[in-house]
Amino acid sequence: MRVLVTGAAGFLGSHLTDRLLHDGHTVVGVDNLSTGNLENLAHLGDHPRFRFEERDICASFDPGPVDFVFNLASPASPPEYLRLGIQTLRVGSVGVEHTLEIAARHHAGYLHASTSECYGDPIEHPQRESYWGNVNPIGPRSVYDEAKRFAEAMTMAYHRSHGVNTHLARIFNTYGPRLHPADGRVISNFMMQALRGEPLTIYGDGQQTRSFCYVDDLIEGLVRLARSGEHLPVNLGNPGEFTILECAQAVLEVTGSKSKLCFVDLPVDDPTRRRPDIAKARAVLGWEPRIQLRNGLTKSLDYFKSQLVPREEARPIS
Ligand code: NAD
Ligand code: UDP
Repeated sequence: MRVLVTGAAGFLGSHLTDRLLHDGHTVVGVDNLSTGNLENLAHLGDHPRFRFEERDICASFDPGPVDFVFNLASPASPPEYLRLGIQTLRVGSVGVEHTLEIAARHHAGYLHASTSECYGDPIEHPQRESYWGNVNPIGPRSVYDEAKRFAEAMTMAYHRSHGVNTHLARIFNTYGPRLHPADGRVISNFMMQALRGEPLTIYGDGQQTRSFCYVDDLIEGLVRLARSGEHLPVNLGNPGEFTILECAQAVLEVTGSKSKLCFVDLPVDDPTRRRPDIAKARAVLGWEPRIQLRNGLTKSLDYFKSQLVPREEARPIS
């Protein structure tokens, strides 16, 4: 197949690109490099089945005939989508429509990377796909949450009105190599702080929970969902639920760090808990995560260590 991946230079997009190339597909990767990084694709060199185009999907474009579109383009880390608020709303609306147009024009399948953030600060726990969520539509996080909810509505409309073979992945917190070391997400912050011997920054009292999925498991889920006949949202995440304090403890263990903890203000509308009910993914995709938190952190350790040396310092003097 010839596949379009938007957000290809990002954390998940680059891993998905690797997987699709490994499976024998041809990939056109598109990214505006707003939060992504070409370093994530550097290992591909001049791969004969990969082409990269630097572009913003908020401007319409045509990559030529494609069989499938994976739409991953969007800032994803809270500090980044707060910094890029309007761009986040636009990529989740205008950008999503452009990519759906491409799928409709070329009769291609389509998968949109949605998020557990559609559930907001959930009253139902764990979260099933049938739950409509508890989202503040005007708070600081709304630029991301409402963009993603709009994107789901737009995706369903293209399915219902134009018969596009669409899929919606509600992705829960995913981590692993290529997470940007400074993008502010909890695993990258804690790993880098622990390796530098700096205090781990716990937001609030650290009793809020998250469920962390290792990247390889998530990519397998995306590929299975893309191949499925399921058009309604499917949760993809690891149901193992940890308080942020437990997460910090796991990072300290895996890194062997003696870092202390420091407590700082909780961001506005930070969800109190998150845990996917993955019964649907198990039943429809035969999928469940295999890699648990400490194992996944251990697998990510070398990558985060490699990020300790600033790239400028690593370059030879010319
Ligand atoms: P990321 O920031 O590493 O990757 C996103 C990529 O999209 C970046 O390379 C960025 O430059 C690109 N991008 C942003 N706006 C664009 C635009 N207008 N045009 C073209 N490219 C653009 O984040 P990620 O963690 O890899 O997330 C990928 C997708 O998965 C996002 O849509 C995100 O919302 C979703 N998601 C991720 C997680 C997670 O835990 N990683 C959880 C839920 C959902
Ligand atoms: N968090 C934290 N310290 C950090 C970064 C994040 O305590 O240095 C908390 C944050 O408040 C949230 C959780 O960790 O409760 C996950 O944050 P992240 O930004 O990774 O993703 P979110 O699930 O909030 O989108």
